[in-house]
Amino acid sequence: MASRPDIETEDESRFLISDLCQMLESYLDKDQVQEVYRAYLFGAEAHEGQHRLSGEPYIYHPVAAARILAELRLDHKSIVAAILHDVIEDTPTAKEQIQSEFGEDVAELVDGVSKLTQIEFESQAEAQAENFRKMILAMVRDIRVILVKLADRLHNMRTLGVMRPDKRRRIARETLDIYAPIANRLGINALRVELEDLGFAALYPLRYKVLNKAVLEARGHRKEVLNKIETAIKRRIQQENLPARVRSREKHLYSLYRKIRDKTLSFEETYDVYAFRIIVNDVDACYRALGIMHNLFKPVPGKFKDYIAIPKANGYQSLHSILFGPYGVPIEVQIRTEEMDRVAESGVAAHWVYKENDAGVDQMHAGAREWMRELLEMQTRAGDSLEFLENVKIDLFPDAVYVFTPAGEIMKLPHGSTVIDFAYAVHTDVGNTCIDARVDRQVVPLRTILRNGQTVEIVTASGATPSPAWLSFVVTAKARSNIRHHQKNLKREEAISLGRRMLDRALAVFEMTADDISSKRLKTLLKDYRMKDVDDLLVEIGMGRRPSVLVARALVPAGDDESGEGETAMRPLVIKGSEGMVTRFSKCCRPIPGDPVVGIITGGRGLVIHSVNCRNISDNKYPPENFLDVQWEPSIDEEFPVEVLVAVEDRRGVLARVAAAIGDADSNIESVAIEERDGRTNNLRFTITVHNRLHLASVMRGVRKMPSVIRITRSRG
Ligand code: MN
Repeated sequence: MASRPDIETEDESRFLISDLCQMLESYLDKDQVQEVYRAYLFGAEAHEGQHRLSGEPYIYHPVAAARILAELRLDHKSIVAAILHDVIEDTPTAKEQIQSEFGEDVAELVDGVSKLTQIEFESQAEAQAENFRKMILAMVRDIRVILVKLADRLHNMRTLGVMRPDKRRRIARETLDIYAPIANRLGINALRVELEDLGFAALYPLRYKVLNKAVLEARGHRKEVLNKIETAIKRRIQQENLPARVRSREKHLYSLYRKIRDKTLSFEETYDVYAFRIIVNDVDACYRALGIMHNLFKPVPGKFKDYIAIPKANGYQSLHSILFGPYGVPIEVQIRTEEMDRVAESGVAAHWVYKENDAGVDQMHAGAREWMRELLEMQTRAGDSLEFLENVKIDLFPDAVYVFTPAGEIMKLPHGSTVIDFAYAVHTDVGNTCIDARVDRQVVPLRTILRNGQTVEIVTASGATPSPAWLSFVVTAKARSNIRHHQKNLKREEAISLGRRMLDRALAVFEMTADDISSKRLKTLLKDYRMKDVDDLLVEIGMGRRPSVLVARALVPAGDDESGEGETAMRPLVIKGSEGMVTRFSKCCRPIPGDPVVGIITGGRGLVIHSVNCRNISDNKYPPENFLDVQWEPSIDEEFPVEVLVAVEDRRGVLARVAAAIGDADSNIESVAIEERDGRTNNLRFTITVHNRLHLASVMRGVRKMPSVIRITRSRG
């Protein structure tokens, strides 16, 4: 098993029943603790002579599971059930015996856990769905069943190393697919985080090792900056006389991994966030602390979230904001009360201990009860287990978008899917002939991004054909490949007619029609493109090889082009099909070859190339027809400016050494600015030129290796 220096790997077998009882005494009554001890004697006798794979006496496992629940401060019945959880399963002890010794509740809990344990999650979807259904139903009867099961699973994951590799992987996958999402849905963050990291380590040992090493290295580099920010926050909060606890926190490995995998961000971009949690006494103090933070560091617009006023479905409450920190580092703050913090860590488990009037816990538990009620309802409505599983997954996997057909059929689409993706998911023909769409009965543009729970209706017309412009916004492979396929298979006449329609539509953007084009201008263009006649041009457009908007732009009389950068049009072609267009690269995100890009047609400034992740294009500032699916020419030899931010220790000559390292990597420095200075660290902002992403990566590697460099990041606006 991969080494896990960041996860506690203390010797579980040293944890004895006396330690457990001592823990319990801090929050349970004496007779309740006595009951737990009696359960221990009962369990130890039942498991007498049994050993785990690791060789230790079996009873160590249930005691360890009970300890996990004791850390969540669960009630004594849950603890007793945890100690007895394998008794029915692995020993001849019957349920009736437990009932007469420890009462009805405990017997039901142990029985429920035993039933869950018998469930083997197999690879076939149907079997898995049926098992999952049983599990949800057990959970609905008494949620403590699942809490005991989660503790059982967590301890098994901690001691997974002794298993055969194939078994280890199966259990790890099941943990990531089923148990961690359930812990998340119940808001039990403490269990979820550990289940995820252990599952990740067991399922992808190599990836885990690489990422873990990267984190350990980066942690060393960031320590100083982290301390500096923490001190600044603490000092300011003290000045304002606000009682508060401040601590820094780190994303756990699996969540880093998921972010890198899903958003294709680099490790640096993902890890390079400095996160702090501020715990205060009451709700008023939360908002005061927020004001203090926004006063200390400028907030990033649009990144503030108030989960206190509007809690998450699992009861989570907190204020979130992202701030511009020193050296340009982003700072993430979470502000909450002690109660909210406890709910955030223990979720639904917070209920059994704090029975006094506690708004946060009440709300959270009401949320969990509501969810259970919905599950029961779903269960009675669902035709079969598979359908039920699909429904439940909506709750458990919020990354996907689930929408409905008008007939009530559920469709699962990746996050960011549009109406067109939906149409293709329904059927290829529906996608190909889609002309209009309604979302929740409202007519919407085809570019519209779908949200959970919406009902989508597609209007088709026979003879309609997919538009190449759709390529700039669809996200599913099915939609993309179908649109491209359709384009390629057009007959010449069809392509001409489609090309004409598309050109007309594109000209309309410039408030022109085909009649406004002078024949002289058209001839010049055909000559430029080396084409024989207009039909050739229309075929190219119809086949999607030449964007209609670009052709239209080339046909529009010059003069309303205010770019003032005349020479840019003369640059060698860097974006496919953009001949004759004034092409500029946006200064906000500074895309370089290798970055996924999108083109935007702007009134006066020609075609502007942005990185697809650019913040400036994510809102609906530009109408969909202005978006162009563009690609880099494969053989570009130009250099592109890009901004990098280098945090360095303030040593004599460090600027010169960093500059030399950049030069050594064959990159030119266009400008450099020294941004902040506190006597110990400086922030150097370089604009350098590179050929592409690979080149940039090698420049950054070279600089990062230098001893006085704390960090280097690509800066994007
Ligand atoms: Mn067990």
